[in-house]
Amino acid sequence: MSYTQSPWSLFELFPAQDSPEMKAAFDELDGKVVEFEALRPSLSPEMSEEAFLNAIRLLEAISHLGSRIADFAGLSFTADTQDQVIQAFQSDVESRMAIIANRTLFFSLWWKSLEEIAIERLMAVAGDYCYWLEEMRHFKPHTLTEPEEKVINIKDVTGSMAIINLYNTLTNRYVFRLEVAGEIKELTRGELMVFVRSYDPNLRAKAYQELYRVYGQDVNILGQMYQTLVRDWHNENLDMRHFSSPLAVRNLVNDIPDDVVDTLLGVCQDNISVFQRFFHLKARWLGMEHLRRYDIYAPVVKTEKKYNFGDATEMVFDAFKHFEPRVSNLARRVLDQNHLDSEVRKGKMSGAFCATVAPDITPWVLLNYQGKPEDVATLAHELGHAVHSQLAAEHSLFTFHSSLPLAETASTFGEIVLIDHLLATESDASVRQTLLFRQVDDAYATIMRQAQFALFERQAHDLIQQGATVDELSNAYLENLYNQFGDTAEVSDEFRWEWASISHIYQTPFYVYAYTFGQLLVLSLYQQYKAEGDAFKPRYLGLLSAGGSKSPEKILSDAGINMHSASFWQGGFDVIRGLVEQLETIPVVK
Ligand SMILES: [Zn+2]
Repeated sequence: MSYTQSPWSLFELFPAQDSPEMKAAFDELDGKVVEFEALRPSLSPEMSEEAFLNAIRLLEAISHLGSRIADFAGLSFTADTQDQVIQAFQSDVESRMAIIANRTLFFSLWWKSLEEIAIERLMAVAGDYCYWLEEMRHFKPHTLTEPEEKVINIKDVTGSMAIINLYNTLTNRYVFRLEVAGEIKELTRGELMVFVRSYDPNLRAKAYQELYRVYGQDVNILGQMYQTLVRDWHNENLDMRHFSSPLAVRNLVNDIPDDVVDTLLGVCQDNISVFQRFFHLKARWLGMEHLRRYDIYAPVVKTEKKYNFGDATEMVFDAFKHFEPRVSNLARRVLDQNHLDSEVRKGKMSGAFCATVAPDITPWVLLNYQGKPEDVATLAHELGHAVHSQLAAEHSLFTFHSSLPLAETASTFGEIVLIDHLLATESDASVRQTLLFRQVDDAYATIMRQAQFALFERQAHDLIQQGATVDELSNAYLENLYNQFGDTAEVSDEFRWEWASISHIYQTPFYVYAYTFGQLLVLSLYQQYKAEGDAFKPRYLGLLSAGGSKSPEKILSDAGINMHSASFWQGGFDVIRGLVEQLETIPVVK
């Protein structure tokens, strides 16, 4: 049977937002929260192991029901962002969930306040919940009193969160104007960015110039928002919670030791020349004397190849099966249960994601599938995510989700498995070359570019603490780009505003290095697979099955990886250098 494109079904969660089932779920949720609140007086260092486990199980049941409701709302919204009823329902669900989070906050505060002796006794019976409980304790030195924590929660809604919302509201309504084939088009940012991958060098330049013309006009406001968010981060996390540095906050959330991130970013700095060499090669393929920053993502070969959806799914399943039949079966389950929405529709969210609700529920995947080779790669990527969470399904709701730096492992690995399979079976040279160039383009975008964002963020947090102006931040950003591209690509002046267009650095400071971490990790893993074949598989599947039930450090060391070692990260760059060398041997096609 061949799969066709269709919307997904959310019926497994709820029939509709106004269904009796939804009403019953809210009532049940409220009942459970009241029950949980009643446990508060019984929490004590002397409480029985059984009572302790019952409290955790009740909290898990609350989270499970909460996830089902919140994810139904969130997924319905992404399927149709223009539906006002769903939008209002989603906002309502968001505020209800925030209230529930505050009503159940006392448990984690109590757990963090316990003495070692009680912790040891209760941990001994906690089983799969152990790492979740342990992680909570990591924040003990940085936790304030309950009234202080509640004030921060409430003030954040109208403080940092409000600024982030304003940033999003302001930048999401930007309209970009671009002349395409003699006609002025009004575009969203997503639509505009398609043109930076255009065959036409002039159009690529015009698209970037328009992007930063628009952001540049507002840079005083956008920069002020950033300064405020960075100061808030500093005031709360360094002054009040006593973290040692702005970056250390994110590292503790990710449970990655500070020295690992320093080593990772240092190895990236040492390997800037790998991508510079690729940009030189790209200039030759494009027939340009000198590459411009505008041309970084330019396609080098013309290919019009399209894959229909049924063929694409079979290609992905074949590639996965070739690696490991179990992986293919788990991916197939997403389609068999009608959990994949691949259509392109008006009002549907752009891009792609995989949403994991709970360990006992097959994940949902959203795609906007148009048949291009990269759409097939995205299909493999998102199904890789779905495989990852299903492999970790025997863990609790609190421990099956992998931590951020490991979250892109199965997805990126799935993409590489697919590309290797295609390279082995595709006879059309232009498709093969497109795939290889695309792989290095993507490696640049997810490894080096994100590492440089993190380095800029670190610098920007320092500069703002010293009272830097928006112009001073922009100059620092431009310096970062000069360093990154060296003499391989000419950086024009409007790129000084680029940092103000990166929403990650506003919304989730230092989030970006997780991409660098994940992608280099996967390249190294893939190299191990190539070298060891079948012997590698149990170690890899073990890594995925661990989900978030152990620290990233433990999960990786169980798989034989030492993330403190610079040579491990260098291994990832060696793979990229190998790809660049492979491309250098291909005669330039004109
Ligand atoms: Zn992903």
